[in-house]
Amino acid sequence: MTEINREKLKAQYQKEMELFEKKHKKSGELYKKAQDSLLQGVPMNWMTKWAGSYPVFVAKAKGAHFQDVDGNDYLDFCLGDTGSMIGHAPEPAVKAISEYAAQGTTFMLPTEDAVWNAEELQRRFGMKYWQFATSATDANRFVLRLAREVTQRPKVVVYNWCYHGTVDETVAIIDETTGKTVAKPGSLGPQCDPAITTKVIEWNDVQALEDALKYEDVAAVLAEPVMTNCGIVHPQPGYHEKLRELTKKYGTLLIIDETHTICAGVGGCTKAYGLEPDMVVVGKTVAAGIPAAAYGFSADLGAKAAAAIPPELCDIGGIGGTLAANALSMHAMRAVLSEVLTEKFYDKNIPLAARFNEGVQGVIDKYDLPWNTTQLGCRTEYWFRKEPAQNGGQAEAAVDFELDQYMHLASLNRGILMTPFHNMALITAETSQADIDKHTAVFEEIVKNIL
Ligand code: PMP
Repeated sequence: MTEINREKLKAQYQKEMELFEKKHKKSGELYKKAQDSLLQGVPMNWMTKWAGSYPVFVAKAKGAHFQDVDGNDYLDFCLGDTGSMIGHAPEPAVKAISEYAAQGTTFMLPTEDAVWNAEELQRRFGMKYWQFATSATDANRFVLRLAREVTQRPKVVVYNWCYHGTVDETVAIIDETTGKTVAKPGSLGPQCDPAITTKVIEWNDVQALEDALKYEDVAAVLAEPVMTNCGIVHPQPGYHEKLRELTKKYGTLLIIDETHTICAGVGGCTKAYGLEPDMVVVGKTVAAGIPAAAYGFSADLGAKAAAAIPPELCDIGGIGGTLAANALSMHAMRAVLSEVLTEKFYDKNIPLAARFNEGVQGVIDKYDLPWNTTQLGCRTEYWFRKEPAQNGGQAEAAVDFELDQYMHLASLNRGILMTPFHNMALITAETSQADIDKHTAVFEEIVKNIL
C-alpha cells in the first residue's frame, strides 16, 4: 500500500497556493474589497472554507462549465452541491424563468403550476399530498414539526454524520467515548442540548435503530436513503426493509430526504428502491437554482397533518416563508420536471459517472492507494479509506483535511471544481466523455506529485 508523502504534500500545497494567487488576481482583488462590507469577505459563511487563499468569484456558466472573473474556465463537478445538478442555465428553464419573471414573481396566492408540480411529484415519488418550501432545510424543519405534532412524540432519530441542512435537531453526532448524542463540532449556539430533541444512531445498525425506537418516544426517523454527506454510504442489503418494519412497529414516521439522492433517478431512491416512507423531501436542483423545495405526505399522514393545522392558527404555527411556493419558483420547477430532469437526463449521465469512477479507481489501483470510489446514479465520490464506509462514523474517521485541501486546490488550478469539503463529483447531462477523461488525467498528475 502506498503512503502519501506528507513532506511532499506540504510543499506541493504551497506551490499550488502560489499558482492559485497568480491565476486568480481579480478574485483576489474582489475578496480584498469585500473585507470592508462582507463578514470575513464572503457573502455566505462556508465560502471561507474553499481551498485556496480566497474563493474564486464566478462570472458566468453554461452546462457543465463556468468561467471566473479572471477568465479561467472550469469543468464543474460541484454543480452547486446539487443545486445545479441539471447543468448551468438549461435552455428550457432559462426560457421559462425569463419569460415568467416579467409577469410577476410572488403573491402569497397559488398558481396553476403548483398543481401541475404536485401531480408530477405524486407520479414520481408515490406520495399523495405535497407542500412547497423555500429550501430543503425549511422543508426538513417543517416535516419534523409535523411529525411531532401528529405523533405527539418529542424526539427524532437521525444518522451519525448526516446532513439535512441547518436544522437544529440534526446538528448532532454520537460522542465516540460515551455513545451519547452531542452537538456536532462547530455547532453554533445550539438552541438546547441536542440530546433533548434527538437520538443519533449509526447507519446500517439495525440493533441501534430498534434500541432508539423501542421507547416509543420518537416521532420520526429522518434519513437520506443513501447517505451522501459523509461520502456515499450505501444501505446494506435489507436495511431499508428493517427501517420500514421497525418504524411501523414502534409507531414512528419515516421521512426520506431525497435532496441529494435525486441523483439516482427521476423519483430518487424512493422510486428506484420501491421505498414506502410517510414523507419525502426534495429540493436544490428541482427549480434550476431558483430557491424551492417540496415535501410529500402519504394519504394517511396528509389527512392527519391537515387536521393538525387549523386555519385560524396556521400562519403562526412554525411552518412558513412568504416566498414559499412563489409563482416564479413553481414555474421554474414545472419547466425542470417536464423538460430537464427526465429519464433522458439520467440515461446520459449515469454511464458517465461510472466512467468517472472507473478512471479514478484505475489510478488508485495503479498506485496501490488505500482509497475507494463509490457511485449513486450521477453522483460519484472518492474517499481516503481502503473499503467504502458502512456508516458515518467510519467515513468521518477517514477524513484527511490536509489531503482534501490539496486535492481540491490542485484540481481547481487545473480547471476542475470538485464539491468542497469532500471529494464528490456530480455529472450532468452536458458533461462530456472528454471532460471525464480530463479529470482522470488531472487526478493522476496531482496524486503522483504527493507520493
Ligand atoms: N438535505 C440534504 C440531504 C442535503 O444534503 C442538504 C444540503 N446539502 C439539505 C437537505 C439542505 O439543502 P439547502 O441547503 O438547499 O436548504
